[in-house]
Parts: sequence; structure tokens; C-alpha cells
Amino acid sequence: MIEKNQSVADYFGCNVFSDTLMRERLPKNIYKSVMKTKKFGVALEQSVADVVANAMKDWAVEKGATHYTHWFHPMTGVTAEKHDSFISPTPDGNIILEFSGKELVKGEPDASSFPSGGLRATFEARGYTAWDPTSNAFIKDGTLYIPTAFCSYTGEILDKKTPLLRSMEVVSEQALRILKLFGNTTATRVTTTVGPEQEYFLVDKKYFDQREDLVITGRTLFGAKPPKGQELEDHYFGNIKQRVSDYMKDLDKELWKLGIFAKTKHNEVAPAQHELAPVFTTSNIAADHNQLTMEIMKKTALKHGLVCLLHEKPFAGVNGSGKHNNWSISSNDGQNLLDPGDTPQDNMQFLTFLCAIIKAVDEYAPLLRLSAASAGNDHRLGANEAPPAVISMFIGSELEGVIEALENGTAYKSNRNEEFEIGVDALPNFPKDSTDRNRTSPFAFTGNKFEFRMLGSADSISCTNTILNTIVAQILDEFATELEKADDFEKALKELLVKTIKKHKRIIFNGNGYSDEWLEEAEKRGLPNLTSTVDALPKYTDKKYVSMFEKFKVYSEKEIKSRTEILLENYSKVINIEALTMLDITKKQILPACIAYTKTLCDSAISKKTLGIDESVEKLMASKLSSLTAGIVNEVKALDEKVISAQDCKEGEEMARFYHDEVFTQMQTLRASVDECEMCVPEKDWPLPSYTKLLFTV
Ligand code: ADP
Ligand code: MG
Repeated sequence: MIEKNQSVADYFGCNVFSDTLMRERLPKNIYKSVMKTKKFGVALEQSVADVVANAMKDWAVEKGATHYTHWFHPMTGVTAEKHDSFISPTPDGNIILEFSGKELVKGEPDASSFPSGGLRATFEARGYTAWDPTSNAFIKDGTLYIPTAFCSYTGEILDKKTPLLRSMEVVSEQALRILKLFGNTTATRVTTTVGPEQEYFLVDKKYFDQREDLVITGRTLFGAKPPKGQELEDHYFGNIKQRVSDYMKDLDKELWKLGIFAKTKHNEVAPAQHELAPVFTTSNIAADHNQLTMEIMKKTALKHGLVCLLHEKPFAGVNGSGKHNNWSISSNDGQNLLDPGDTPQDNMQFLTFLCAIIKAVDEYAPLLRLSAASAGNDHRLGANEAPPAVISMFIGSELEGVIEALENGTAYKSNRNEEFEIGVDALPNFPKDSTDRNRTSPFAFTGNKFEFRMLGSADSISCTNTILNTIVAQILDEFATELEKADDFEKALKELLVKTIKKHKRIIFNGNGYSDEWLEEAEKRGLPNLTSTVDALPKYTDKKYVSMFEKFKVYSEKEIKSRTEILLENYSKVINIEALTMLDITKKQILPACIAYTKTLCDSAISKKTLGIDESVEKLMASKLSSLTAGIVNEVKALDEKVISAQDCKEGEEMARFYHDEVFTQMQTLRASVDECEMCVPEKDWPLPSYTKLLFTV
């Protein structure tokens, strides 16, 4: 229990089996081997695992835990867990509490009910989970959670964490080759770090429960536009309402107990939309923490009579929710390799990494795009919302100047020492930042890191970071291979960077990424515009990408194919569920409400007529509603038929395309008619709580 006046420092990480705890509770040599595993990826011996397991169990039991679970990230996009208790019977009929190294290191969940994309038949049920000692174990709800990786009996990976861990190794190896070329003798490992900003909506549970669409699909499938949306721009960074503030405080506390560095919170652009950002950490830990954050966000909301919506587009007509993946690389001798320093024009090492990233993003843009592809995110990317589906990079005016000078062999003139004057004597002047921000770019340099803004709010960050790490590793590998052969390193480097800039600067765009002009310009530049999930996903299996992933042993061809299949299938399933939910709501709630209100109008018309009063208003309204209702009946029929036809498609790309082109399009048509009807029926007679209630009453 946390006492009322306890400071954050006293309870931060209190539910985590942290390095500090390990140092306190493990014999010195054991602690050292665990740290070696954590820092250098050295495999752990069974005898060491036994001691660690026992210490973990003792700690967990002291904290009231009774169970443990291997916690993993299957391809469902959410985490999975199966709880086993620590109890073990003794011959005298009592129990002792046990947890062995074997149980810590390896689990054998039945893998048959997790998506495998054809990697495994149902009868080959065996799957393994393997402890990931680089991410700390923690206690939640009376259970000790062991972060693990998940693979099949035959060794194919079935989860999102293993490829991420592999990609971290790969980028480390290649980045070290580059550092070595610059004469670095101290760095022995390079780590990618991530800080994911998480957007979400909060709605009142009382209204949520009355909306079958929100309950089943996480988004509103119907809903007329409210009189007020986000046009006044009064919500972003606006003051936080008490109920929301109480929720945020509670959420911070729960996250802090789990050792998650929740840092920034604020209102977002849309009404009822908010954001939480943590302090960045190592990629795989950031991925674990983000999954936990999403889970705790949802659970904590319920305690406040609220529901937290993580869907990318819960409401039509207002902004959807994304997740900004802030990403950087640093070496274990303390350098952030993406820090340009005070004179980026002279920082050749930084410029080398920058150019490698520019090339990687340009050459592998479709991979980054597909890492953010999902049915939910289709409402944002490529729809009338930010960011666009075209991948481009923003590097800011300073760096653009620097690489332009490099390309042209001219001197660069810095504007670094400019001061920013506020013009009020009492306020301090401060040095102007070297770059402005650009909020419309999908991949923006923000001072000492890149921010990839395409991810959907519900996405796991694993896939994006796996891809990001691997494509950067690929280009660093190419660079290193070329430079290692050079007799004159400096000359060769300059040539390489100039060549890279010339060829790949088309990916750099500092203007407004939302504009139509940009889409035209992007097309001229030959940049791909993959507007939907079904356009993006099939690119995964392109030969060039497969051979890169295979070369680095991040994915085998089989694993990529299976992932593509899982994701396409997931797309079809989501649209199918949404269509069925729409049909259900329309048939059982919308149509009866329309008919009932038409009758009310008709009854009133008849009564008026009997009394000799003009009944034309009722007649007009009833006939409008009646014809709208007839339209809905037709559209329901059409949607019904499309859902049935979808089943005749070949599973995979063909089926997903049909859902996208036919089913989803028909859903939009049905929605438009229903939303029009909503405006013709009194609020009390409409079965679904309105957008105004959902968006403005928390
Ligand atoms: P903004 O909304 O302006 O983009 P925020 O402060 O909300 O900025 O989020 C910035 C995120 O970037 C934070 O999660 C922060 O920890 C993260 N970040 C900062 N430095 C790095 C870095 N070197 N590597 C990865 N993430 C970083
Ligand atoms: Mg941001």
C-alpha cells in the first residue's frame, strides 16, 4: 500500500525485480553473471537461473504473490499470460512454495491457439517461451510476471519480441563497425532507445456501455457530427478537467510502481483526447512498457467510471489517435549517435549516421509504412488525417543547410548563435533552437532523435522498431563495407556521403505533409503512396526485403510470409466484425427506432387531422424518415450480401482486398444514411448516445 504522503521516489519500481534488488538479494557471482547476460547477451547457466528463480520467488511471495506467469507478445497484438501457482505438495499433505530455474527460463504454453500464419498445424501444439533477462520481472495483481520470447517447437518465432531483440543485436554490430572506422576503441555495444508517446480517448462508461459498436469494435460505427468538434482548437494543452486529472494521477502511480517512466501528460487536439509520454529507454523494454501502459490505462479508467479508448479512430470527424515512436541510437561509451553537437557541419560521424538513416528510410519506405498498417490506422494514414501515407523525412533547416553544403562542397554558415527575443524586459531571452518543428512529417528529426509518427495508438511498437533497426543496420553494413576497403578514409567517406545525399534527398521534405500539393510532388519524386493496409502489407514479402531480413537472421522467409498472412487475415477479420456489428445494431436498434418514431409522427398527424388541425409538418417529417428508413433497409441488404460474398474469396490478400473495396465501402454508405436519420429522431428515442454525450461529458 502507498501511504498518502509517500514520495514517488519511495514507491517507484516497488513492484519490479530490479537490478538494485538483484544486487541486494543475489550472491555476488550470480548477480555478476545476470548482469553479463543483461548487458552483453551472454547465455545464462542453469545453476545461476536456479538461484535467481528462488530469489525472485522469495521476493514475490513477500509481496503477496501466489502465482507466476511467462508473459509474451504473440502476434495478436496484445500480450498473453498463463498463471501457475508456486505451490508444490509435500508428502505430509502440506505445501511448499517453489520456483525453479527451469521454470524461470523456459515455459511450454500450448501454442495452437495463437496466430501462426500457417507456420504450425493445430496438432503441432507445442510452443516455448524463453526468459528475456534484459527486461525486468514484475508483480501485478498477485502474480510474478516474467517477460519472455515465444517460439514454436520447430524454432520459428511466433511473437513480436524475438525479432526486436534480434534487430537490436544487428544494428549494434553494424554501428560498431562504423564507430571503429572513426577511431572509437571504447564502445563495445550500441543500443537503440525508444520513447513512445501514447494518445488515447476517455469516455464515460455509462455511455460506452450503451454503444454496442464501442463495446465490440472499440470505435463508433455510427454517430452524427456534434455541433462542436475540434475547430476552436481549445483542447490541445488545455487545462485538465478534475475527473481526467484524477485518472492521470492514478495512472502515473500505477505505472511508476511498475518502474515505467511516465513523464508527460496533456490534453490532445480532439475533445476527450489525451496523451502520455514516458522517458525513453532501451527498445525492447520500451516495447514491454508500452504494452503494460496500454493495459494499465484501460484498467485504471474503469476504476474512475471511464473507458479508455485506444482505437486509432474512435470518432469520425475529429482527430484519431497515434503513437509517436521517438528513436535514437547510443553507444555504451555514452554518446547519442544522433546528437549533432554544436557544429554538425564538422561532425562527420553524426553526418554518416544521418545519411545512413536517410538512405534507409528512402530505400525501405514501404517497410516502415507497413509496420503501421492496420484496419484501425487506415482511418488515419492516407485518409484525410495526419500523417499522410507517403513516407518522407523532415530534418530541419539547419541540417538541410549542412547536407546541401556537403553535397555542393561549399562552406556552411551557421545561425546557431541567434537569440530569441521575447520583447518583454522581464523575460529572459534564450538561444533559438537550431530547427523548427514539423508536425506533419511522418519521420522527423527532433534535435537528437527521430520521431516516427505513423504508428496507430493501439499498435505494438515492436514491428516498427524491428524494421527500423534492421534497415539502418543494412545501410550501415553497406557503408562500413565500402569504407573499410578505402585507402583514404576521409576522402572515401566524403564521396560516399555526397553520393548518398544526391541519390536519396528526394525523401526529404520540410513542407506541409497534409497538403494535396505534397502528394502530387511526392508522386513526381517517385515516393510510394500506399494508402491502405491492403496496399502496404503485401510488400512485406518483396525479394529485396526478404533477403535483407534473412541475411541478418531477423526473420526467415517463412516467418515473414506467416506474418504477412496473419496481418492480412487480421484485417479481414476486423472489417468483418465491424460489418456484422453494424448490421446487428441497424437491424435491432436503428430500424426499430426509426419505425417507432415514424409511427409517433403518423399518430400525431391522424389526431391532428381528426381535430381539423394542419398535420403537414408531421406528414413531411414522417415521409422523410420513412424514405430514409427504406434506404437503410436497402443498404443493409447490400452489406449483408457483401459480407457473404467475402467468404468466397481466397484467404489472404484477395479476401482483404474485397473487405477493403467492397465491404468497407458499403459500411461507409450505410453509416451516412444512419447518421442522417439520427438528425431526424429525438435524442431520447435514438438508441445510441450521441457524439456530444461521448465527447463532452467527462
Ligand atoms: P513532443 O510531443 O514534443 O514530440 P514529448 O516530450 O511528448 O515531445 O515526447 C518526446 C519523447 O521522446 C519522450 O518520450 C522522450 O523520452 C523521447 N526521447 C527523448 N530523447 C530520446 C532518445 N535519445 N531516444 C529515444 N527517445 C527519446
Ligand atoms: Mg511527438
